Amino acid sequence: MPNVPQWQAPSGLANIWLPYTQMQTAPTPLTVVGSAGCRLKLADGRELIDGISSWWTACHGYSHPHIRAAVEQQLAALPHVMFAGLVHEPALRLAQRLAALLPGDLERVFFTESGSVAVEVALKMAIQYWRNRGQAAKKRIVYFRHAYHGDTFATMALCDPEEGMHALFAGSMPDQLMAELPSNESLRRAFDLLLATHRERLAAVIIEPLVQGAGGMKMHDAATLAFIAESCRRHGVLLIADEIMTGFGRSGRMFAWEEAAGLTDIVPDIVCLSKALTGGTLPLAATVARRHVFEGFLSDDPAAALMHGPTYMANALACAAANASLDIFECEPRLQQVAAIEAQLRTELESCRALPGVADVRVKGAIGVVELAGAIDLQALRGRFSELGVWLRPFANVVYLMPPFVIAPGELGILTAAVRTVLAERTLKAP
Ligand SMILES: *Cc1c(COP(=O)(O)O)cnc(C)c1O
Repeated sequence: MPNVPQWQAPSGLANIWLPYTQMQTAPTPLTVVGSAGCRLKLADGRELIDGISSWWTACHGYSHPHIRAAVEQQLAALPHVMFAGLVHEPALRLAQRLAALLPGDLERVFFTESGSVAVEVALKMAIQYWRNRGQAAKKRIVYFRHAYHGDTFATMALCDPEEGMHALFAGSMPDQLMAELPSNESLRRAFDLLLATHRERLAAVIIEPLVQGAGGMKMHDAATLAFIAESCRRHGVLLIADEIMTGFGRSGRMFAWEEAAGLTDIVPDIVCLSKALTGGTLPLAATVARRHVFEGFLSDDPAAALMHGPTYMANALACAAANASLDIFECEPRLQQVAAIEAQLRTELESCRALPGVADVRVKGAIGVVELAGAIDLQALRGRFSELGVWLRPFANVVYLMPPFVIAPGELGILTAAVRTVLAERTLKAP
């Protein structure tokens, strides 16, 4: 790396274990000392434009003054209190606002601290819902190829069997049913047959609406969602929409499911939210259930209650941050910004299609994806991007952009140019 002063690693690095990282060969991680707008300030003085919003969370960019003020005010009043037998205003207000934003009677909010746990809670809701109705055999889950729903054991079992960790943990995970996304007529018949055949043992189908994220950044249309919803209703299977990545504007609407609303009146029974919920400031997740799911737990029997309760659930600081993030959606033009980002990504990424080794270019909302035909040298690509002053983290065979919605056209242009440059260089080096 020419011209880059070598940053002296703080000694604490010897005590850190990084995620998804082969620690023997990984380069020294970059130390971040500050962030503002779309930029990360590094300890060595450099700045990187963040093209992936810190794992898809920082939708308003970094250090938005309104979120900061809300968290500071909450810190002075009540940073945290256990959420059993006790409640607090930020959580009540947030639950009410999420219920108002989500379609139909999605109105009961269970707060947790991470996306994986929000999905775990959705699975518990679905399985216990049927159990409470005397249908304890309905406990299997249908998921889709290229899905990603989290890293815990129950959620790993719902991730793409090839992209995910199935091989590594085979035998330790529940056995679930994988389906192909029903995106054409014959796949629709096959999907409907799958539900018809297994309906007596199926609790739920889980889907990331419109864009499947960490399992390969694949996209599908709203008609596919509407078909899945109708098939679930026909066969008496609950539908879980995992909007952890797509929620809060990323797909172009506040929630991706809204795009299916013109095609079907069916609303998912359970929705999972996290990632951008607090605008990328504090960990928080929510599992939101429709009225009939909630009512399935009302009984004289204490054991029919939902059996879950994380220590830090509904953390008041995180709820205050989420309320502040929703305020910003109300008074700043986020969805218009997403539409502008979508148009710019379409124009500027299109030229990547002509590069050898590029299999596909696709864009949805503030998500731009260049899929490559073969495996990529991730370490080399990631290092090259930071040399160019951008923070991008390609995985598997995709290079993708998910910038903060407040990104300026000039900054977004730097990101798309970096993608073109690095992919063109890679082509030059290819044998
Ligand atoms: C990130 C993600 C999760 C897991 O969330 P964590 O907070 O990392 O546990 C689950 N589902 C989807 C669609 C995600 O993008």
